[in-house]
Amino acid sequence: MERSVIDRGRRNFLTGRRLSRPDRPRPPWARAASVAAACTGCGACVPACPQGIIALDETGRPALDFSRNDCSFCGACAEACPEPVFDRAIPAFEHRAVIGADCFARRGIVCQSCGDACPESAIRFKARLGGPVLPELATDRCSGCGACVAACPAQAVTVSMPALEAAHA
Ligand code: SF4
Ligand code: SF4
Ligand code: SF4
Repeated sequence: MERSVIDRGRRNFLTGRRLSRPDRPRPPWARAASVAAACTGCGACVPACPQGIIALDETGRPALDFSRNDCSFCGACAEACPEPVFDRAIPAFEHRAVIGADCFARRGIVCQSCGDACPESAIRFKARLGGPVLPELATDRCSGCGACVAACPAQAVTVSMPALEAAHA
């Protein structure tokens, strides 16, 4: 397993092919593996997205930019794709929102913008002594839509794969 990763990395280095970052959010119903295996980089999904959140990354593959907007789960990207990149039978996203240390509330400034933006009510606010209420994320309710990312005035919210978080814990 380790050998094949090394070989692939060496081959990509030798051929000049750049690798996608594994933590980059991909369009809904697409996974890093299916993007790597089946996406031709045609770009059909980019103009199809009414939210304007799909852009091709440095490898020419689609990635989501939640700082622009959220995903409405309309399915237009999957419908526009001519290749077997999307699988509507699987959950849309694996990633979940993560609230970082730059959060205003954690720094003593009143803010509930992420909770107001969340359509799943996945962000609740917990009272505490001596400071503004703090956001708490219920990951089991999070759909990964990204609405909280664009809404946060502190740019404190990102999305992350649970497996990557566990690896870095
Ligand atoms: S499901 Fe719709 S809003 Fe979400 S990325 Fe695809 S085209 Fe954009
Ligand atoms: S919107 Fe951002 S700054 Fe405001 S409470 Fe949520 S994470 Fe913190
Ligand atoms: S990604 Fe969407 S569902 Fe998850 S916490 Fe943010 S706004 Fe709510």
